[in-house]
Amino acid sequence: MRVFVPKIHGLHSPEYEFNDSKLIKYQEPPDRIDKIVERLSINHRYIVTEVTGKEKLSKNGVHFDKMIEIFENIRTDKYLIPDTFNIKRIEKEPEECSAKLGMYLFDTATPFGPNTADVLRNSFMTIKEAVNHIKKTKENVYVAIRPPGHHAGYDFFGGYCYMNNAAIAAVRLKKTGKVAILDIDYHHGNGTQDIFYYSDVLYVSLHADPATEFPYYWGYAEESGEGEGYGYNVNIPLARGTKRQDYLMALRNALEIISGYSPTFLILSLGLDIYRGDPLGTFDIDRDGLNEIGVLIRVLGVPVLIVQEGGYAIDEIGDNIEAILEPFS
Ligand SMILES: [Zn+2]
Repeated sequence: MRVFVPKIHGLHSPEYEFNDSKLIKYQEPPDRIDKIVERLSINHRYIVTEVTGKEKLSKNGVHFDKMIEIFENIRTDKYLIPDTFNIKRIEKEPEECSAKLGMYLFDTATPFGPNTADVLRNSFMTIKEAVNHIKKTKENVYVAIRPPGHHAGYDFFGGYCYMNNAAIAAVRLKKTGKVAILDIDYHHGNGTQDIFYYSDVLYVSLHADPATEFPYYWGYAEESGEGEGYGYNVNIPLARGTKRQDYLMALRNALEIISGYSPTFLILSLGLDIYRGDPLGTFDIDRDGLNEIGVLIRVLGVPVLIVQEGGYAIDEIGDNIEAILEPFS
């Protein structure tokens, strides 16, 4: 299986985030992807391609222009964590850089640094290459990418995410057929839901109940899309500590919905934070469970573009990625 990696992702490496009323070590470091790539590079099932090119962010086709312009134009010599948020969405853009970011940011875990925009340009190019590959070959593809994307919506960002990699892929694949997105990250993909809420791109998400887990304000079962998108947004919230068998049962239901939609392509937003040892998750899914998840999704028989989202058990991330990708490779 082909694996695409943005070569310069490591240049986005904040030291801290503000979380749970404390300044803590940043939980989404370059190591996550480096460990994955290290492991897949020595496994003959995978051909790893590092993407060096960059693409202008304004061509993304998904996000609100003004938010992207701010990403393109921020000049800073340190990582900025805004302390003021534009919750009433007032259009006036301040001059102060951190406050510009605060216009569209929704949390304090998503610092923006000197190289963040450049890393996003490289990520965008990586997604484009992966999309071209799956379009041409109809083969499964894995994108070992960071920063992750599923918390970035049309005009907001947060949760370590700036631009929505899965959505950027989906709008491109949609030109050649029906696209479904299955999001199995531990956290609800509020960004992806937001982008496709009024469209017939099917979004199905299994995630921890937002009543107790990030992102809190989105991800409830009654959010089912609006207008043309009505019925195409499916949220399956699960209780903290959900066990492997219960998770797999919920996944089977999700896959039945996807199968009924008959997509040409499936995008899998893959969060390895569903693993039992993850510091940000509570689900009780072991490594064999990850493999079984891969097997069940593979049975759909649809070409899958797998996009890395969360997953923070870094010492085990190599074993975990091999377990879940094995059925697709
Ligand atoms: Zn997550």
